[in-house]
Order: sequence, then structure tokens, then C-alpha cells
Amino acid sequence: MISNSQPPLQYIKGVGPKRAEALSNIGIRSMNDLFSYFPRGYLDRSQIVRIADLSKYVEKEEAVTIFAEVYRQEARRVRRSNKLMFLLTVKDDSGFLACIWFEGFYWLKEAFEVGELLALSSVPALDKLGRPQFIHPQFDRLKSVEEDEPDWGKLFNTGGIIPKYRSSAELEKVGLDSRGFRRIIRNALDHRSSVIEEIVSSDIVQRHSLCDERSAIRSIHFPADFQELGKAQRRLKFDELFFLQLMLALRKRGAQQHLRGMTYHVESVLARNLVDSLPFQLTAAQKRVLQEITGDLKSPYPMNRLLQGDVGSGKTIVALCTALIAVENGLQVAFMAPTEILAEQHFHTLQSFLNNTPVNIRLLLGGQKKILRTDILEDIRNGAANIVIGTHALIEEQVEFAKLGLVMVDEQHRFGVLQRGLLRGKGLNTDVLVMTATPIPRTLAMTLYGDLEVSLIDELPANRRIIRTAIRSESQKDKVYQFVKEEINRGRQAYIVFPLIEESDKIDLKSAVKEFESLQKNIFPGTNLGLLHGRLKPEIKEDVMQKFKRGEIQILVSTTVIEVGIDIPNATVMIIENAERFGLSQLHQLRGRVGRGADQSYCILIANYGWFDAHKKGLEAAEVREEKEHARTRLETMVQTSDGFKIAEVDLKLRGPGEFFGTKQSGLPALRIANLIDDAELLLLARKEAFDLIQNDPHLRHESHACIRKHFEEEFKDILELGKIG
Ligand code: ADP
Ligand code: MG
Repeated sequence: MISNSQPPLQYIKGVGPKRAEALSNIGIRSMNDLFSYFPRGYLDRSQIVRIADLSKYVEKEEAVTIFAEVYRQEARRVRRSNKLMFLLTVKDDSGFLACIWFEGFYWLKEAFEVGELLALSSVPALDKLGRPQFIHPQFDRLKSVEEDEPDWGKLFNTGGIIPKYRSSAELEKVGLDSRGFRRIIRNALDHRSSVIEEIVSSDIVQRHSLCDERSAIRSIHFPADFQELGKAQRRLKFDELFFLQLMLALRKRGAQQHLRGMTYHVESVLARNLVDSLPFQLTAAQKRVLQEITGDLKSPYPMNRLLQGDVGSGKTIVALCTALIAVENGLQVAFMAPTEILAEQHFHTLQSFLNNTPVNIRLLLGGQKKILRTDILEDIRNGAANIVIGTHALIEEQVEFAKLGLVMVDEQHRFGVLQRGLLRGKGLNTDVLVMTATPIPRTLAMTLYGDLEVSLIDELPANRRIIRTAIRSESQKDKVYQFVKEEINRGRQAYIVFPLIEESDKIDLKSAVKEFESLQKNIFPGTNLGLLHGRLKPEIKEDVMQKFKRGEIQILVSTTVIEVGIDIPNATVMIIENAERFGLSQLHQLRGRVGRGADQSYCILIANYGWFDAHKKGLEAAEVREEKEHARTRLETMVQTSDGFKIAEVDLKLRGPGEFFGTKQSGLPALRIANLIDDAELLLLARKEAFDLIQNDPHLRHESHACIRKHFEEEFKDILELGKIG
């Protein structure tokens, strides 16, 4: 967004129309955008030394940098282990240095060219002969010795920290490589830094000893030393987290602001009957959560609540009670689930219970016949449907409710904030209850669900036993199948899951279907097997599930469509084929399909690590090895623990926060510099400041908050639009 007060970028020295256009293509349109194009890393020139002087730094155990030219590269065998190592010899005008890698040989050998100029950093070590060497150094390629400014001559005296910027082929074409960026940002800072305004009020800045905005921006690009860089990073991370939390605080307040217009009577006959009809007692945690929910319903403000609880903790019954309360208060309920199969299951659970009551429930799915669909839509529109269960088909435009009062979303982590918002928008001041089994660290939850109240079911029903989990190889499959037969003979049922990670993957689908046929014919000839995958018509899926539920099918061969929510307590065996290909949360969810009753349940993970060699898709050997290692960690974690929280932690470590809960999905702005895990402490500070601020000055009218308001309005315009529906 180009703000009027800022001169167009092209007038900065060194930019001009062509580069301005290239910059605009990557979203850099204003001076502030340019200043916010933070370095992707830094080249540490502050400790530049000559090779001849390296031995002085061995004892100090300090990392130092050398600038040197590639002289020779070779592979060697390490004598004792006979493993390959990679030896790179580099030189500067004072001598030669050996750099050694024990890993990554295959890509390293393609990585360097003789004569190429590198900056290498490491803590120097001594070899057997007492000569300094670098082991696994960090390195950067330098185009020329004048990589940054033409003062190479002074380099050894001055030192410094050089920012590195992300570039692309497009940008390089117009001279905007890392060095090009460095030049224009430097010019912009030298001549236009007056456009950088303070964006956080001075009391907050002082309270947390933050440096001022202008020096933070300056130092993030051109820090004098690492201490200054650290301060700048802290300030800019704070900014990012603060405004993120401010958005959440406003969103939460927005939701609270509107009176619902009614309060619920929470003494519900239907809900009471439902609970009384259960063959078990609710756990203390379930009761407590129901209290929290009815507390919300009794208040004049709409509910906005997240219900967290591990797989099998019994969230559904809590949700169903909530739905029945809403129905008895004359409101319609929409209940959204991520898969058709899960939606159908919820539908049947409720239907069987509501059989002899006037409550009308309908099921809305994507692929339904036109006549049926028209009928359902009409029921929803005229209010005849009290409870509507469905998939994301519920958020389509044609779905109009007469009086939608409560929106419930199961397995919320499968949806985005946007979808939740769209569904809620079909009513007025609708109550919202979302459920998830994905336990995430507190700081993440605060950000992802920062606008929601959180309820936690932190205990499993008492009758549960630990699911026995084991890893088996392909060659042990006969024994595994033998075990399945024994369990079937004892009247139990089993799942055999094949990896069809994307339902659109035709090759995987084909192989799942083929395996099914072969299992039926060759391994389990006397047993009824059913096949389930996402591509089947809804009627067929439903038919297969019902047969499995009634016990007419003993073994359900399936893709991951059964991953979430499915509840068949008599199924006690879960076989996961090619388990190495599944993600950790996915494995945990799949395992959660068994162990839902009092019988001992089993989960057998069939591992075929060789799969990674056969499907490396252009990966380097080291990367393949890493994939295998990760897979091994995933499966072993499954054997070691059944605690969803621990599993999520490992998963987070393996995948990193970005992939763990794709920010795109979450509807949150992408973070440029802060990290929700590593910067947890700063996040808590920022959150407190933001929520306090909105509490005290909800419209940011106070004079000292004008700068916050201005920045927020400029930067978050798009997201605010989104926030309205969210
Ligand atoms: P999730 O939290 O994974 O959605 P469900 O709501 O599907 O779990 O419940 C899992 C199983 O546990 C279901 O078969 C349900 O009937 C049963 N269940 C729920 N609450 C209890 C309880 N308090 N005691 C025993 N079984 C329960
Ligand atoms: Mg569930």
C-alpha cells in the first residue's frame, strides 16, 4: 500500500522504474515495505582473520571467519570407520586451510568450484599435526572480494556484520541480488529514514526496555555488532507479536461486544435424557467442561469456545448436549465435520438417540442427489431442521438458516479460521463451539485460538487401557495377519490402513484397491472385508461404515479417510501399512480409532524404510537419510507414548512450526521475524500489553495510542476485513 506521505520507491538512489517494478512484484511498494525486507541472515565479518593467524583462536574457542579461495577438493576414507569424508582445501594470501565434512558428501562434491571465493566460519580445531582446521564450517559464496562495498582493502581492519538478502532470478536480472538490496536499503536508510515512525506508545517501549523503532530498523539491516543486532531483533519481534495479539484482542472484543439478544435456559430435558441413557458416567472433566459451556450460554454474550481434548477423551457427547440445549431454546444448530464419514457418524449417533423425539436432524453433504439436497436446504431455510450436520458443504452460499443459534466445528484444526467464520456468519451473534484433538503448546494455542476461551478435557474415561503398539517389518506381515485372524475369531474387528495421503493420488489409490482384493482373496478368504476411500460415492461410504458398525464387515481396509473421529468401540486392531509415510499426528489420530472401549487394543505399524530409497524424488542421499531418521523417530515415539501432548511436541520438533499448523490455514498473518515457539516469552509480554491496551482503550482513542492505531490500520487493513468474518 502506498501511503501518501511516502515518496515513491523509484526515486530512491539506485532504484529507478525497472527495479521499482521488480520490487513491486514481490510486494515491496513503499519505503516501509523496503525497510521491512529484513535480511535472511548475516555474514559475520566482525572476526575476519588470516589463515596464518588461526591457531591463535583455537584456545579461545571462538568462531572466526576467513575469506579464501577454493584450492582443491577430494573425497577420503576415514581410516577407522571407513566412512567417506569430504576435504576442501582453501587458501588466502597467508596460507592453506583444510575444511572437513563427515556428512553430506554427495552434495558437497558438487558444491564448489576451484577458484571460487568463500567466506568460511567455524571454531578452529587442531589436527593431529597441530595444524588448524575447520570441521563442518558455515560458508557463504562471495561473488568477488568486493561482495559488499569496494573497501576490501580495509576489510581486515574494519570488520562488521553484513546483511544477506533473499533474491530470485527475476530480481537478479535487474541487479537486485543480495548486494543490490544492500545498496538500495542503505541509500534509503541514509536519506529517507525520517519516514520510519514510532508505532508503539512510549510507555510500552519503556516498560520492556525496547529500543526505538528507527534505530531498530537501521540496526536490523546494518548492525554495528551482535549486541545491537540482538536489540533490534527483540524490538522488531515485539512489534510483530504485539500487533498480532492486538488483532486477536480486537477480534475477541468484537465477539463480546454484541449482546446475543437472549440468554439460554440451560436446564435441558433432552440433554439430561441423553446423559442418562449413556451406559457410562461422564468423567469429571466432561462435567466441568459442560459447566463452562452452560456458563457461556447463560451469559448475554455469544459463546466463543474451543474444546480441546485428546483422541478418545469424549468430546462428542459434550457437543451433543450443547446442541440439544440450543434446540430446546428454539435455535438451529450447525455441526460441521471435516469428512463425510465423520459427519455421517455424528448424524447416526444423534438420530438413534432422538428417534422418539420431535427433534429434526438433517445431514448435508457435497455429493447428494438434487432432490434430496433441495429438500434439506428447504428444511434448513424454513426452520424445520433443528440440527444440521454436514461437511464444508454447510458453508456454501445456498445454505440459509431460519434461525441459526449455535455453530459447532469438529476437528477444527482441519479447517481454517475463515471457514469457521463463514459458518458463523449464517446466523446473528451465533454461539460457537469448536473442538480439536491437536494439543499444541500454550503459546501457540494463544495465538491460533487467541480469540477463543479454552476448555480442556484432561482425562480419559476410566475404562481405557493403553493401546499396545508395535513396529513390524514387511517380512513379518504373515504373523501380523495371523494375529488379526485370531482377534477376528474372538469377535473383534480390525482396520487395515493404506497410505493415501492425498485423496487425489491415483497411484496410491490403485494400490490400495489392489491390496484390498489380494487381502480378501489370499489372506482372509473366509472373512468379510470392506473397502473405504474418499473417492467412493457418499451412499457407498455410508453403507460400508454401517456394515462395519453392525459387525457385518470384520476388517475395514481403508485409506486415511477414517483418520479422524470414527468411533467403533468393537474394533480393537489397527494395522497401518507403510507407516513410515505417515505424519506423527496422523498416526496418533489413526491409532485413536481403536482403544475406544474396555477391550485390550493393538496398533501395529508396518514399517518399510526402504520406501524412501525407492521414492527419493530428486533428494540427496543425506536428505533421504534424514527422512528415514525422522520416520524412525515417528514410529518409535508412537511405541513409547500415547500422550497426545508429547506426541505433538515431537511432531512440532520434526516438522517445525510452519508446517505444523500452516499459517495459511490458520488465517493469521505470516510472521516475518518472530517465531511462536522460540519467542514464547516475548509473545507473552506482547500479549499482555495488547490485551491490557484494548481493555483500557478499546478504540485506541487516547492520544498516546494514536501511533499504534495508525500503524494497525495501515498494516492490517486486509486482515481486518478477514477478521470481521472470522
Ligand atoms: P473424541 O474426543 O476423540 O471425539 P469421542 O467423543 O468420539 O472421542 O468418544 C470416544 C468414545 O468414548 C466413544 O465411544 C464414547 O461413547 C466413549 N465415551 C465418551 N465419554 C465416556 C465416558 N465418560 N466413559 C466411557 N466412555 C466414554
Ligand atoms: Mg471426535
